[in-house]
Amino acid sequence: MIKANDPSLRSWIEVDPNSDFPIQNLPFGIFKTQSSSPRVGVAIGDQVLDLAILNKLGFFNNLHIDNSVFTNQYLNDFIALGSNSWRNVRQRISDLLNVENAELRDNKEAQAKALQYISNVQMQIPVKIGDYTDFYSSIDHATNVGKMFRDPANALLPNWKHLPVGYHGRASSVTVSGTNFYRPKGQTKPIETEPPIFGPCKLLDFELETAFIIGKETQLGDNITTANADEHIFGMVLFNDWSARDIQTWEYVPLGPFLAKNFASTISPWIVTLDALEPFRVEGYKQDPKVLPYLEYEGEKNIDINLEVAIQPINGEETIVSNSNYKFMYWTMEQQLAHHTVNGCNMNIGDMLASGTISGPTPDSFGSMLEITWRGTKPVKLKDGSERKFINDNDTVIIRGYSKKDGVRIGFGECKAMALPAKN
Ligand code: MN
Repeated sequence: MIKANDPSLRSWIEVDPNSDFPIQNLPFGIFKTQSSSPRVGVAIGDQVLDLAILNKLGFFNNLHIDNSVFTNQYLNDFIALGSNSWRNVRQRISDLLNVENAELRDNKEAQAKALQYISNVQMQIPVKIGDYTDFYSSIDHATNVGKMFRDPANALLPNWKHLPVGYHGRASSVTVSGTNFYRPKGQTKPIETEPPIFGPCKLLDFELETAFIIGKETQLGDNITTANADEHIFGMVLFNDWSARDIQTWEYVPLGPFLAKNFASTISPWIVTLDALEPFRVEGYKQDPKVLPYLEYEGEKNIDINLEVAIQPINGEETIVSNSNYKFMYWTMEQQLAHHTVNGCNMNIGDMLASGTISGPTPDSFGSMLEITWRGTKPVKLKDGSERKFINDNDTVIIRGYSKKDGVRIGFGECKAMALPAKN
């Protein structure tokens, strides 16, 4: 067991039992305040620990880390120090926050400098994302979409169980939780027999996803294997792959999603390390037919992460419209990474690889409005009495997620954004 994951650890900082950020989590993010520039922070309870200050005050002296990696607007340079460094830093923070360790516990002056309430800081996008890839790895999602748009009897295309299908998305429009976005405009073809029209998207949707961040680069020609893939993953975030279904339907043949997806994607601000998620590993989906040797793997590679999606109308109460779980994924992150690099495609630190919509087997666990309302044929009722087939202007969509076991709850914080009316 990783020492920092020990369920018996307690912090001298009081952490609510329902907090996403107990001492066993210690996720990394970038924050700034009105008086301080962007820097690396770690969440603990409802507070953020300023690693630039801690390093400056000498708390990381034995780790010999240049402060420039902490006084940085992205985590990339910190991640580039390598897994030994992230592990040592996470372990050192675990020690410093431990109720039995007096170093920071009894140093009120250092605490005043290094601790802030999360509610008083502004979270930034945590990494500079060079490339973003989106997979299509939930069997229930792919089956639902296949049933709706193709042949209910042959919902999955012939390749689906042989390789993790994916496409290259766009990194420029990936934003951090709290960044609202404009409803996209584009071409749609609402009437089959008529020519296409131009205007604001009418079928705006969310996609409940997670994403992982590359922590170790590879060179052109290199292949990452399922066995060493975990060494290349820094951690995970929640991911909303906003989608314009009407634009998508008209544009996606033959090259896949383009303008229907690249106008906005939202991520949660805290990167939960793969180390912190280790205790929640579970067995993967039983894959039949057998996959090719480069996609085979050993051990428990799925993760039990509870996921939920809520819709909040402006000035209204939120309604949870989906309860899903990462464990419903057919293809694992390790397989996705092995497949992505099997042709020699190189990976860079900060690259983001998203799961694809994570739907479970039952309608209350579907990960998009497309599926929840079955293409708009079964609207959902919100708590304020209004109905939704898709996402309205000024609706906020919130994704949350956490793993729980042995009394430890490791969460991700919120992935939240509002759909503003189309920009004129
Ligand atoms: Mn997607």
